[in-house]
Amino acid sequence: MPAVFIGHGSPMQTLEHNRYTDSWRDFGASIPRPRAIVSVSAHWYINATAVTAMARPKTIHDFFGFPDELFAFQYNAPGDPALAEEIVECVKPTWVGLDRDSWGLDHGTWMVLAHMFPKADIPVVQLAINASAPFEYHLEVGAALAPLRERGVLVMCSGNVVHNLGRLAWNQPDAGYDWAQSFDEAGRRLMTEQPGDMLQLLDHPAYRAAVPTPDHFIPVLYLAGLATAAQRPCDVLIDGYALGSLSMTSYVLR
Ligand code: ZN
Repeated sequence: MPAVFIGHGSPMQTLEHNRYTDSWRDFGASIPRPRAIVSVSAHWYINATAVTAMARPKTIHDFFGFPDELFAFQYNAPGDPALAEEIVECVKPTWVGLDRDSWGLDHGTWMVLAHMFPKADIPVVQLAINASAPFEYHLEVGAALAPLRERGVLVMCSGNVVHNLGRLAWNQPDAGYDWAQSFDEAGRRLMTEQPGDMLQLLDHPAYRAAVPTPDHFIPVLYLAGLATAAQRPCDVLIDGYALGSLSMTSYVLR
């Protein structure tokens, strides 16, 4: 089963159709039907490593100031408690907590899956990003998920390689600042040539501007870890920029 990192934009993309959402739809249609999906979303960023383990994860609307239509959106995919247990085993000796009633599916997950698998009939679990862990930890946990690919599980990571909400250029919907492009291109070279070296980006001159907080950056490290485990680089699924300071670049590991 392939694995994928999606550069996501505003939650409004749930209801929109553009070249990014089309690429997510086309990707979903192009792969064998997954047994289940593990989603690593930028928006579940807590002080522990946990996996959702409820049978019916709720749709979490973790934002404000958007239209009612978006708050009414539901992605009613089932959970997969057995897969949650499988993840706990895969990642040992690293500890993963089973979340039975706290989180669910957040918009980093469902805004993408609404297009990739619109029927919401494939079980989904979310894996939390442990905010207190070092970057290397996320590469390692990503690599530890590799056996799941052999068992028909799609690993879907959702974030942005460049994500600076403090520097959005509202008059430039499809543009990227020079520093954003420079950082994203360095990321692309690493993901498509030597994904195991993704942490070289921490030394890039634009790192502080591109990654003011690590939540949206870390999901790509899970795909880099999987690529390292597979000893194979990634391909670009689609690329582009939004509002100056967001990279929409997405990667796939075949
Ligand atoms: Zn986001």
